[in-house]
Amino acid sequence: MMVNDYINFLKHQAKEKNVPIIQDEVAEFLIQFIQEHDVKEVLEIGTASSYSAHVIASAGAEVHTIERNEVMIELASENIKSSPLKDKITLYAEDALNFKTSKTFDLIFIDGAKSKYKHFFTMFQEYLKPNGYIICDNMFFHHLNPQEVSRNTRQLLKKLQDFTEYLINDTQFKTYILDIGDGISISSRVIQ
Ligand code: SAH
Ligand code: MG
Repeated sequence: MMVNDYINFLKHQAKEKNVPIIQDEVAEFLIQFIQEHDVKEVLEIGTASSYSAHVIASAGAEVHTIERNEVMIELASENIKSSPLKDKITLYAEDALNFKTSKTFDLIFIDGAKSKYKHFFTMFQEYLKPNGYIICDNMFFHHLNPQEVSRNTRQLLKKLQDFTEYLINDTQFKTYILDIGDGISISSRVIQ
């Protein structure tokens, strides 16, 4: 099967199985970003079914992706096994909070538990190349109104807002927040 057909198949599968995936705008943005910045190696936190890993691999990058949920690990493994891009995707079946590697990456794509974004952002800097980028998905978290959601969701929104403020004030990184898809942040190191 052709790469684009396979990615379309994964998109439909995700819809059918109710797996959350990056929006089309984010997919298009990532592909362009990877090509423009000559991104070769990507670390992803939160594989789910491996849809976004496939989008990233289709842009020419090698993807290392981490997933902790058993059901998703099973689905992603199957999807990668039969994929025309299988040589470009490596799945790590573990909690990203325990992940260790000797590799460094041009791009780290954070799309795991939203309550842990700050934790991921700080702990994964170790694996970022000096000129690398960190991109976070779902920074606007569906534009939910804090007045109209459950207490848990409200706490999550607060955490994402605190994280956004943290990013804006972080003097080690320059961050842009873009209103594409569900909101993404793009951070790169300030070279001193
Ligand atoms: N990137 C995917 C969607 C990911 S959805 C895509 O766009 O196609 C978020 C996923 O992150 C879920 O499958 C969830 O199980 C996983 N996740 C959340 N916290 C995690 C953690 N600490 N370690 C590993 N995976 C995590
Ligand atoms: Mg997402």
